[in-house]
Amino acid sequence: MENIDWGNLGFGYLKTDFNVRSYWRDGKWETPTVTSDETITMHMAATCLHYGQEAFEGLKAFRGKDGLVRLFRVEENARRMIRSAEYLRMQPPTEELFVEMVKTAVRANEKYIPPYGTGASLYIRPLLIGTGPQVGVKPAEEYMLMVFVTPVGPYYKTGFNPIKVIIDRSHDRSAPHGTGHVKVGGNYAASLLSGDWGHSQGYPSVMYLDSCEKKYIDECGAANFYGIRDGSYITPKSTSVLPSITNKSLRTLAADLGLKVEERPVAVEELATFSEAGACGTAAVISPIGSVYDPDEQKTYTYGDTAGPWSVKLYDALRGIQQGETDDPYGWNTII
Ligand SMILES: *Cc1c(COP(=O)(O)O)cnc(C)c1O
Repeated sequence: MENIDWGNLGFGYLKTDFNVRSYWRDGKWETPTVTSDETITMHMAATCLHYGQEAFEGLKAFRGKDGLVRLFRVEENARRMIRSAEYLRMQPPTEELFVEMVKTAVRANEKYIPPYGTGASLYIRPLLIGTGPQVGVKPAEEYMLMVFVTPVGPYYKTGFNPIKVIIDRSHDRSAPHGTGHVKVGGNYAASLLSGDWGHSQGYPSVMYLDSCEKKYIDECGAANFYGIRDGSYITPKSTSVLPSITNKSLRTLAADLGLKVEERPVAVEELATFSEAGACGTAAVISPIGSVYDPDEQKTYTYGDTAGPWSVKLYDALRGIQQGETDDPYGWNTII
């Protein structure tokens, strides 16, 4: 095991020993190779550089109470990367190749999987890029799929303490964030300006509204949004919300806990009616929201300085499964 201060890890890149790569060349995926090279050499006309042929994924491996290492819903990430690839006319990996490369990357870096009980986990970043040259706007003929890993702590410095959120209507960054239900880098570059603006105002997270009318909630930073009201788990339905695997899991767990699950357009004014709110995603897990500030309406919606009871229950249920503390009734974990 590496000598790392696991309990104080932030969310960033920490070098590990190996990454795994496979090229699509001449009509097939090559056998994946394991390398310790942190760099990629590519053609200057690679389509990922010019036309944004790039998709990525994010998932985690957890060391359980029983010492076993679990991947959470890896097939869902594989399927989403396939959808992202198809959307950008890239060669999609097979589900099997994706899962195999993730497993290889985790096993090769076993000593970087944080110990149980530290709150840290191993973040896994699969990346698919067009590496073949093109000058015209055409898909590449060569692609690289790679997987690297890095141990991470909480996404927000506040951990499970509620975050402050600000609504951004000004940078027009709602639709680009999750266009077409795919996880692609260009959407993120388009959200950086807005994120920096939020930070400059003193908010770690920005809330994006629908790009057309600015009436409905889309997402909260790089995470999905949920609100709790009168025994309901309410989460936005919109074509520009990235379908979060964490949110999908929370909808299932919420129903198991006896909440009614509503997936529908959520108007901004509904923020006033929630007893709890949160942001959810692989990186953020659940980050309870303490308040949402609407600078255009000069209004603040507040939910309190500590996580609400439903957010705590949902967090415990999700973490319990991921860390092997409770049963895994839906078979979400892959033990490796
Ligand atoms: C990855 C991502 C999420 C979270 O999805 P998970 O599958 O739960 O990790 C939410 N919103 C955006 C824009 C994302 O890229």
